[in-house]
Amino acid sequence: MDTRLRWNHHREKMEAGASKRLSALSALAASTWGTKMVNLRQVYRAMIVPQMLYGCSAWHTPGKDRVNSSSELVKAVRRIQRRAAQIITGAFRTTAGDAVDVEAHLLPVQQQLEQTALEAAMRVRTTPMYNDMAAEANCSDTEKSPLDLLLAILQRKHGVQLNQLERRQPHIVPPWWTPPFTCIAPSAELAIKDHDEVETGSICIFTDGSGIDGHVGAAAVTLRSRQMSGISTRRTQYMGSASASTVYAAELKGLAMKTEWSAAWETAKHGRELFKLGVKPGKDVLSIHCNVHRAISSVITQMRTGKIGLRAYLHSIDKADTDKCDCGYGRQTVRHVLLECRNWTEERQQMWAGKPPCVDIKRILSSSTMAVQAAKMILRTGLLGQFLAVPSTVLTT
Ligand SMILES: [Zn+2]
Repeated sequence: MDTRLRWNHHREKMEAGASKRLSALSALAASTWGTKMVNLRQVYRAMIVPQMLYGCSAWHTPGKDRVNSSSELVKAVRRIQRRAAQIITGAFRTTAGDAVDVEAHLLPVQQQLEQTALEAAMRVRTTPMYNDMAAEANCSDTEKSPLDLLLAILQRKHGVQLNQLERRQPHIVPPWWTPPFTCIAPSAELAIKDHDEVETGSICIFTDGSGIDGHVGAAAVTLRSRQMSGISTRRTQYMGSASASTVYAAELKGLAMKTEWSAAWETAKHGRELFKLGVKPGKDVLSIHCNVHRAISSVITQMRTGKIGLRAYLHSIDKADTDKCDCGYGRQTVRHVLLECRNWTEERQQMWAGKPPCVDIKRILSSSTMAVQAAKMILRTGLLGQFLAVPSTVLTT
């Protein structure tokens, strides 16, 4: 028994499991041939995060002022996420956790923990069995159960009206059950086209939900129902006000976490090179990495964070004798190699490919198209030893 509720045993088990999975992740992430950055991110989010945060609603209560008995556990989660984000983005190990979170678009540990714990609390609160399983106690904050504390946060911070939440009847299906085929058409025209193409004989249910003036509703309709006696053809349901509806409450919470992340990024101490480029937490960061070779992804992150195998950085960590470039005109920085160095004029011309050159390093590194060209140019110089084995087909425009 963990009589003092320090969760040490749980932490050791969690760390051991996560480090096994992290080494599997890094085996997929070789810098010259490895899996694409977005796919590694997906593996991390699907395989490591759920295991790491298992039961976190029991061991983590969000809130700064509280003495958090689980802080060692939170530190461990932070270490794992930082390492994972470094593997995913191909950033140097010295790169700040705040910066790699933004580059890999991973919700920071503090916000992720809070979101997962609140989601669990919401699930408990919306079961019809809630009243039987957890009676609300009238006691001071220090004596409250983790569940009561989480519910208080939902109410106070996220404005969720607990007594008005929609109740959800648990619906159990066997693991081998396959859900009915669902399809969401991108536009009304395509939906009509899809509808006309469906073969007769199959049962189709059309459904939509909407929110107007803070009220949420849903409707489902099925045609060809004459064959199916006993099934009503149409059903509409008022789901309640936006803050009471569970789906909306969960989404509101997600939005609040993103806002908190942005605020934390503004004031963070580390990862400032990336911050100065104007890179903000957001999904659009991933669009740069979607269709490019892993080496290009990694070089983009390294250029943007300033932690890259060029002499200016290597010298600062005692890995190079000098920070000067071979050309003799200045320090070997990303800016110098991309825009100034005389040794790479041909590579530079290839980067601009006839287009008017851009001399604003900030714009180059924050634009998705230019950053990819810049990464290819740096790779063509062969200055980065880590990527020498990258196939040359990757580097052509
Ligand atoms: Zn130079």
